[in-house]
Amino acid sequence: MIIVGDDPASRVYVNNKKKACEECGIYSEEYALPANTPEKELLELIDTLNGRKEISGILVQLPVPEHIDEKKIISAISPEKDVDAFHPINVGKIMVGDFDFVPCTPAGVMELIAESGIDVSGKECVVVGRSNIVGKPQAMLLLHKNGTVTICHSKTKNLAEKTKAADILVAAVGIPNFIKGDMIKPGAVVIDVGINRIEGKKLVGDVEFESAEKVAGAITPVPGGVGPMTIAMLMKNTVRAAVVQAEK
Ligand code: NDP
Repeated sequence: MIIVGDDPASRVYVNNKKKACEECGIYSEEYALPANTPEKELLELIDTLNGRKEISGILVQLPVPEHIDEKKIISAISPEKDVDAFHPINVGKIMVGDFDFVPCTPAGVMELIAESGIDVSGKECVVVGRSNIVGKPQAMLLLHKNGTVTICHSKTKNLAEKTKAADILVAAVGIPNFIKGDMIKPGAVVIDVGINRIEGKKLVGDVEFESAEKVAGAITPVPGGVGPMTIAMLMKNTVRAAVVQAEK
């Protein structure tokens, strides 16, 4: 795990990932680099870790400081050690449906759906948000499970009309309490990816839980829903990476 700078949220995420590794018996190393670390130095570190046989997975906690080119960093990680599945090769593999890793958050959402006994096939699935790390891969995974998928974003017109048609609604917007109960179809499955910090400390999702839970058939809480699943999927990807590399 590599963390550059001292963003408090990133620090919490890295600590949680480190703890999860300990709990699973996965050896981990943390590289905490100062915010002014030159891009070249970070690339050299990734190169060294790419070459170390005993390291199966490499994760650079995002966001990185502005002077560092995020795309360059992601592309520098060996695709077979890219346990976040952000490398363009892994993104392409997800597109064609032939993948070893899936980005951890959308993978966690799919696991929640599967474990709850919900069949995606033929369902109207609406994903609000189209980021490369959540919205887009989420839509692709729902499509692979034969959902009829609509992706919404900031330019979408009549958003409530779209969300109200969803049997499965995934919110990944980054705006606290954005999806209200009256935007949800009665009985729908509502998955809240959002993690927003308000009033200094409190964590809330992108869905207004109080109004949404009265309408939804199933709903994930924040905190405690998708967040822990993301970390569990990171562990799963790391084990998968170790297996794939061992089989080579
Ligand atoms: P981004 O900011 O990258 O993307 C947000 C998306 O929401 C964009 O596609 C944007 O549209 C869309 N959006 C913004 N405003 C609106 C609007 N008014 N109507 C409809 N769509 C809108 O965020 P991320 O995908 O990285 O993260 C989303 C949320 O998930 C955040 O709260 C983040 O903290 C959380 N998160 C949680 C994780 C977990 O482990 N649970 C992991 C990763 C993220 P456009 O593209 O047009 O700008």
